[in-house]
Amino acid sequence: MNNKFRVGILGATGVVGQRFIQLLDGHPQFEVAALAASDRSQGKTYADACTWRLPGEMPEAVRNIPVQPPAPPLDCDFVFSSLPGEIATGAEEDFARAGYPVISNSSSHRMGTDVPLLIPEVNPEHIELIDAQRRNRGYDRGFIVTNPNCSAIVIVIALAPLHAKFGVTACVITTMQALSGAGYPGVASLDATDNVIPFIGGEDEKVESETRKILGILKQDSISDAEMRVSAQCNRVNVTDGHMASIRIKLGRAASLDEIREALASFSGEPQTLKLHTAPAQPVIVRDEIDRPQPRMDRDAGKGMAVTVGRLGPDTVFDYRFVALGHNTIRGAAGAAILNAELLVARGYL
Ligand code: NAP
Repeated sequence: MNNKFRVGILGATGVVGQRFIQLLDGHPQFEVAALAASDRSQGKTYADACTWRLPGEMPEAVRNIPVQPPAPPLDCDFVFSSLPGEIATGAEEDFARAGYPVISNSSSHRMGTDVPLLIPEVNPEHIELIDAQRRNRGYDRGFIVTNPNCSAIVIVIALAPLHAKFGVTACVITTMQALSGAGYPGVASLDATDNVIPFIGGEDEKVESETRKILGILKQDSISDAEMRVSAQCNRVNVTDGHMASIRIKLGRAASLDEIREALASFSGEPQTLKLHTAPAQPVIVRDEIDRPQPRMDRDAGKGMAVTVGRLGPDTVFDYRFVALGHNTIRGAAGAAILNAELLVARGYL
C-alpha cells in the first residue's frame, strides 16, 4: 500500500519549483500530487507548461499532472510554496485557513511573530510556534512554516555552533550570491557578465533580521531575537549556483582557533540524530585548503545540503573570520523546505 504524503507545489514551474520536483523524485515519504503556477501555465500539463532547466530529464511522474491556480482546494495533504512574495502573502494564508499545512520558501510570512523560521539543525524547538499560530489565527489543521532567505540559511548554519558555544555578539557579512537566486530569467546577461551588482532588493535587511530571529529564543508564544549586532551587504556575482559569504565575528567569550574549528566541524542537530532523509551527514564541512570554498567545487557537498566553511582564521578588527558557502536552491530553498517537512512529520505536525 502507498502511504506517502501527497504534496502540492505552488510555483512549480520556477527555479525553486523545479528543484522541489527533482528532490522529491523517489522521496520515501512524499510524492508529488498537485502542481500550481501562474495563469500563463494553468490548464496545461506540467510538461507543456514548464521548460525544464535542470540537468537530467523532467521526472516522468510529473509530466502529465495538470497545472492549477495556486488556490485551495488542491488534491494533496500539504503544500510546498515557492511563489513570488507578493503572491505568496495571500495564497499561503488561504491554504492555511483551508486546512493545509504550508511549508514556504517565500519571504512574505518569515518575520510573522507566530511563524516558525526554521532550520532543523539550528532551531527545531521554534516549530512549537505552530500551536500559537493556530490559536491566534483560528487555523484548524493548517499552518505556515517558513525557511529562511537563501543566504541567511548558509550564514546561520555556520554561525549557530559558534553562537551556542561562545556567544556571537556581533558579525559583519559580505555575500556573493549566485544568479539562480534571482529566479528565471533573473538578471539580464548584459548586467551579469563581467560584473558584480552590489544591490539585491531587501536582501541586506533580510539577512540581518532573519539571522537574529533564527538564533533567538522561544519564549512562550514568540521569539526573543538573539542579542547580536548583524551588518550585511549583499552582492550578485556571475556564478550560476552557490551563495558565498565572508563573515567576521566577535565572540562573548574567548575561544582558540582549534575550539572554533572543532565547534564547526562537529556541529550536528536533530535531523542527523533522527536520520532524516534529506539531512546531510555533516551540516558544516570545514576545509583547510587556502583557496576553498569555491562555488563550483563545493556547492554540491552533502548533496547540496552541507555548508562548506574555509579561510578560517583570526581577524585583525573582530575576533575571527571565515568564508561560508552553500547551494542556494537546495540548502537555501527546496532542500531546506523538504527537510522542514521531514522534521514536521517526525514531530507529529503532519
Ligand atoms: P521563479 O523562477 O521566477 O518562479 C516563480 C514561480 O511562481 C513560477 O512557477 C511562476 O509560474 C509562479 N508565479 C509567478 N507569478 C505568479 C502569479 N501571479 N500567480 C501564480 N504563480 C505565479 O522564482 P524562484 O527563484 O523559483 O523563486 C520563487 C520564490 O522562492 C520567491 O519567493 C523567492 O524569493 C524564493 N526563493 C528563491 C530562491 C532561489 O535561490 N531562487 C531561494 C530561496 C527562496 P509561471 O512559470 O507560470 O510564471
